[in-house]
Amino acid sequence: MRKRNNLTRRNFLTTALTAGGVVVMGSPFAKRLSTLLRRETPPQKTIQEQVNTPQRQGFSEKSYREETELERKLYQTERDISFAVIHHTASERGSASSIDQAHRARGWDAIGYHVVISKDGTIEYGEDYGRPVSKQGAHCKGKNVGSIGIAMIGNFEITSPTQAQLDSLYQVLNTIKDKYHLTRDKFYGHRELKATLCPGKNINIKEIRENLK
Ligand SMILES: [Zn+2]
Repeated sequence: MRKRNNLTRRNFLTTALTAGGVVVMGSPFAKRLSTLLRRETPPQKTIQEQVNTPQRQGFSEKSYREETELERKLYQTERDISFAVIHHTASERGSASSIDQAHRARGWDAIGYHVVISKDGTIEYGEDYGRPVSKQGAHCKGKNVGSIGIAMIGNFEITSPTQAQLDSLYQVLNTIKDKYHLTRDKFYGHRELKATLCPGKNINIKEIRENLK
């Protein structure tokens, strides 16, 4: 009933506006009419508002923030990413900062890896040290074009990664897989591409691939 009334009112107002001569454009009456007409149109969201509206309402605020940070740090369109390489650092200690210093000491312009995962599962980004994902890495000679390099702190010839480390690794790999539309077989251990022990015998690459979403 209400809808019908509105329609009727709209028709009346439109007719009044288009009758010509009756309404002087810019007169207070014309302004009042156009205000009334505008009111009947539901407010439209701008494109920007639509883009900014979170679609995944089921996520808690915390996990939503974490997810967007990972995506923001790992996803870019400047480079064509087609695979990822998993490394260990062959050292039980260290951080993105100490690796950055070591790699710069070799004459490189920044840390060679795009991502470093510490024993407690903290994810550090090469971006914070001058190696964003948009910049080619220096982690797997001959295979740096089109790849993202991820290193876990540890010598996995001797020890094993912590559960926290593996959890973060899966978060990183699944985000890369999702954002760049990669299949499981695009995730390699360094030793599958080059003659090296990296990332250590205690890393089962096949199992990691199978566990990806
Ligand atoms: Zn390696």
